[in-house]
Amino acid sequence: MSQGRVIKVQCKCGQLLFKYFKCNRGRLIKCYLEEIRQDYTGVIGLPIGSRPRCIGCGKELGVIQIIHGRPALKLNQGSVIQIRT
Ligand SMILES: [Zn+2]
Repeated sequence: MSQGRVIKVQCKCGQLLFKYFKCNRGRLIKCYLEEIRQDYTGVIGLPIGSRPRCIGCGKELGVIQIIHGRPALKLNQGSVIQIRT
């Protein structure tokens, strides 16, 4: 079994948002901030309740929430795409 992999997360507009270590299969619904490997948008360190936007097109990406006790970006479905590296 795979231990997970680093994926690229992009906005629909093509802007690279961050690289993320994804440890399970399936759809990307949330991104734990501590698992973001390279942050191109400044998501890491944002306070809970923040709604980061794409630096390319200004579209809202989701909201920072505590999920399972850890700060995470809960993604707006349809605003991002994930790419295998
Ligand atoms: Zn965008």
